[in-house]
Amino acid sequence: MNVSPAGITAGLWTLLREQTLARHWELSDAVFAEIDGFAWVQGWAIIRYRTRHTYRDPRFDRVVACRTCGGDGAGEGGRECRTCKGEGLLNFFEPPDAGQARKIA
Ligand SMILES: [Zn+2]
Repeated sequence: MNVSPAGITAGLWTLLREQTLARHWELSDAVFAEIDGFAWVQGWAIIRYRTRHTYRDPRFDRVVACRTCGGDGAGEGGRECRTCKGEGLLNFFEPPDAGQARKIA
């Protein structure tokens, strides 16, 4: 075996760091297992970073604020906006002729 004492020390630190990271991910998986499972069933995106899990419903990517009314749903003369039917949001996956702009399909 041709390893200097510094090489052995560096190898031990690398091993400890890898084992610590592995335990960290195992603990994180155990803590967030139920929530991650719920998010997965719902079809949400899960972004994992160290001790933080962020969940996002991709259906929000389909929705945008109505440009005609600025997102408040109010049109001229106190009536509802004709473009978004007073919802203030437009859904990209619904054609304008569908009648209603829904907040989330
Ligand atoms: Zn509108």
